[in-house]
Amino acid sequence: MESQIRVRIAPSPTGTVHLGLCRTSLFNWAFARRHGGKFILRIEDTDHGRNTEVSEKAILDGLEWLGLDWDEGPDKGGPFEPYHQSQRVKRHLEVADELLKSGHAYRDFSTPEELDAWRAAQEARKQREAYRGKDRDLDAADSQARADGGEAFAIRFRIPEGESSFKDLVRGDVTIPHFEIDDWVMVRRGGEAPTYNFVVVCDDFDMKISHVFRGEEHLVNTPKQLLIYSALGQTAPEFGHLPLMLGTDRKKLSKRTGDTALGDYQAKGYPKAAIVNFLALQGWALDGENDLFTRDQFVGAFDIGDVSKAGAVFDPKKFLWMAGEYLRQESPEELLDHCLPYVLEDGLMTADVASERRAWLLQVAASVQDRLQLYSEFPDWIAHFFAADDQVSYDPKAEKGARKRERGVELLGGFLDALDSGDLSGDPAALGSATKEWITAQDAKIPELFQPLRCALTGMPGGPDIFETMDLLGLDRAKARIRAAMDRLATPAS
Ligand code: GLU
Repeated sequence: MESQIRVRIAPSPTGTVHLGLCRTSLFNWAFARRHGGKFILRIEDTDHGRNTEVSEKAILDGLEWLGLDWDEGPDKGGPFEPYHQSQRVKRHLEVADELLKSGHAYRDFSTPEELDAWRAAQEARKQREAYRGKDRDLDAADSQARADGGEAFAIRFRIPEGESSFKDLVRGDVTIPHFEIDDWVMVRRGGEAPTYNFVVVCDDFDMKISHVFRGEEHLVNTPKQLLIYSALGQTAPEFGHLPLMLGTDRKKLSKRTGDTALGDYQAKGYPKAAIVNFLALQGWALDGENDLFTRDQFVGAFDIGDVSKAGAVFDPKKFLWMAGEYLRQESPEELLDHCLPYVLEDGLMTADVASERRAWLLQVAASVQDRLQLYSEFPDWIAHFFAADDQVSYDPKAEKGARKRERGVELLGGFLDALDSGDLSGDPAALGSATKEWITAQDAKIPELFQPLRCALTGMPGGPDIFETMDLLGLDRAKARIRAAMDRLATPAS
């Protein structure tokens, strides 16, 4: 039998794609995939003023990029179309009417001034009291007559006495007394504008959603939504509220302690697999020991009951570490494909030149792989290859280290002669060990040549193997750089 499990995300397209949405999507997606259910994307675009097509597209692109494929959605269609909430308003209003007729909702004709006065009185009393509309007990015929007469009204839900209890799949038993809940607005006054808590239920119900997993900030909404289900005589889905994502300051994740938009991490060149892995850790753990796991391992092991109640601290340092771990698992081909856009963007090469020199670039990628954490760091490591040989820019630290070696220029000269005469030659490994022997024969220590040599070749204080770098430069360019360094290091530092 086909699984009855249907989960959804219902993002509002109102800005950038926040990591919180990505995490919620990932958990819903994993749950659906684990149980052979369906993962649905519905766009909650009822708040017309703030919605943009651009941000809807960004959501679809971002989730697709992460590989969180949905089974039904605005672009794919499905058995419960439309998947834009704004196109379902007719149905929402029908349901509102049904709830009016059954007495679970009522028309509140209060004017904005009356509501302001109620609020002011409540503040003066300094005692929180849930709103109960003055027209709550209006006779049904009177209410209808006033509406027919053109008087403006909001439709409010009639909160019954008692309390709502439910078992949250993450948080356990939750009870909220009804005296804390306002007779909230289901349809705004003077228009046909239904509100979130109402329409989300209509849509989840119509789309046969079985489980609702969303951020903890929605916990307060759940009793309101459950009351709608029971007013309609329907079974509610199961709910699970995912813990807040916190910054390192333990406050709700915000720009204060790091980037919050998926696009920021894409732009910096975080490997996709690292983003997915890191988001999975925001409220869930594989076994408490292994932080690195694949998407398949995650799906295979994901149990909503294992999600933690406590806020998940989003640690940017750990994220960066994880990015490096994933980047190092890539083949040179994959790594180069991910890094190349940054090379082109920096103007180091054109796309044509890059494809002509692909074999060389692959070797370069392999040589720096151990040192990279993000794809965007690649151009900095390779920029020196594109400098004129007599104009390599020396990092102050590299230059200082080179100048500190009193015999530096002499040893560079001797090394150059040995290269010219062919006394030192061979592939990088052979040349490396021959050079070390040669240094010892000069009665010198390895760093006495290596430090000035690295500065000469790359201008950098550290980096990949010197002899691999020489190989990538080619012998002639390497020699030209050594010659230039002998001149530059022989004159006092400017
Ligand atoms: N549009 C709501 C949000 O983006 C949906 C909440 C829900 O999943 O019910 O937060």
